[in-house]
Amino acid sequence: MAKENLECSFCGRKKPETNLLIAGLDAHICDRCIEQAHGIVAEESRQSKTDDLSSELVLKKPKEINEFLDSFVIGQERTKKVLSVAVYNHYKRLLQPSSKEDQVEIQKSNIVMVGHTGTGKTLMAKTIAKMLNVPLAIVDATVLTEAGYVGEDVESILTRLLQAADYNLEKAERGIVFIDEIDKIARKSDNPSITRDVSGEGVQQGLLKLLEGTTVNVPPKGGRKHPDQKFIEVNTENILFIAGGAFDGIERIITKRLNMQAIGYSAAKKGEELDEGNVLQYITPKDLKEFGLIPEIIGRLPVLTHMNPLDEKTLRAILTEPKNAIIKQYQKLFDMDGIKFTITDQALDYIVEKAIEYKLGARGLRSLCEAVFTDAMFELPSSDETTFHVTKPYAEKKLTHDTVKQLKAVS
Ligand code: ADP
Repeated sequence: MAKENLECSFCGRKKPETNLLIAGLDAHICDRCIEQAHGIVAEESRQSKTDDLSSELVLKKPKEINEFLDSFVIGQERTKKVLSVAVYNHYKRLLQPSSKEDQVEIQKSNIVMVGHTGTGKTLMAKTIAKMLNVPLAIVDATVLTEAGYVGEDVESILTRLLQAADYNLEKAERGIVFIDEIDKIARKSDNPSITRDVSGEGVQQGLLKLLEGTTVNVPPKGGRKHPDQKFIEVNTENILFIAGGAFDGIERIITKRLNMQAIGYSAAKKGEELDEGNVLQYITPKDLKEFGLIPEIIGRLPVLTHMNPLDEKTLRAILTEPKNAIIKQYQKLFDMDGIKFTITDQALDYIVEKAIEYKLGARGLRSLCEAVFTDAMFELPSSDETTFHVTKPYAEKKLTHDTVKQLKAVS
């Protein structure tokens, strides 16, 4: 056959109409058909990867998410409920992309949790990531600075997520980022000595795009961007961002607002007692703005929730109730040495009492336990003892005033 009579076996174009015609055994294919076929192969493989990941992603109903949280996090009922719904909606959005016809695009349900340190914010994010089997990056907002300044670029957040996902891009792109201490990047406009707010508003601006969903060139090994480095393109569209912060002093802002409202609507407010021990429960996005978060950031963290302070009952429960409760961990440690570890309720109450007295919070419970059990953990493995029983007098002996004061100093 004359060369010009050859044609593409797929689309029928004659050789002169193509840029390239490749011959096979009994057939030919033109450059256009190759490109089209390549597109189909790429799409198919993307789809099957998505399907694989979707089957790996265990999406539970809000009530089941709540139940799972219950087995690790004590109290914080309202926040658990709010998070369960937000997480459910986020992953529902991700697993069932909205059809183009109805034009309804579900917005991201990024979350901001306001609560004192040690009340379980990080624990909540960790538990959700564990339940969903998605990678989690925990980053501290305080190390972030505007590009070009000493500190880390906001993109470093995604480097961490990639690392958490073992550099599996698809996994990272549906992971969770927990940004701790988000309150520390609040605008400090009332501080006249700061001429350039590199770690405040600039960082907030930098975070905006990430939170909303964008494609970012991420240096896979972290560090500053430099020209010879290869980047990984990460799309943040389906990454769930959870921000947390103590927002020290926000109570004053909330109380002030509530008081103003109370004056304005005194009649309507009558009979509604303000719970002064837990003002955070009345928080609104307006308070975050007053604190110094820019409205655009607040808008991109649409789910706002708070953590309750941990009271005596909660601290007591934290010691023994969660699936990996502190006391259960010690039981396991002693068990590995063939030692049966028991502790009386009075001793547990005493540890809680000390945590409250010295304002050590939930984190302090662990250090207090460590202080009580260390001598035994040192001695018993080399002895013939098969039991270790902790009573209140034993705990009292180990937790001298000095010991606890030392714990306070390091906490
Ligand atoms: P935050 O992020 O709010 O500063 P964390 O989540 O890091 O606090 O909490 C510190 C530790 O205290 C956790 O690892 C956990 O052991 C314990 N803890 C705090 N709050 C709770 C809670 N509500 N239920 C169970 N454990 C808690």
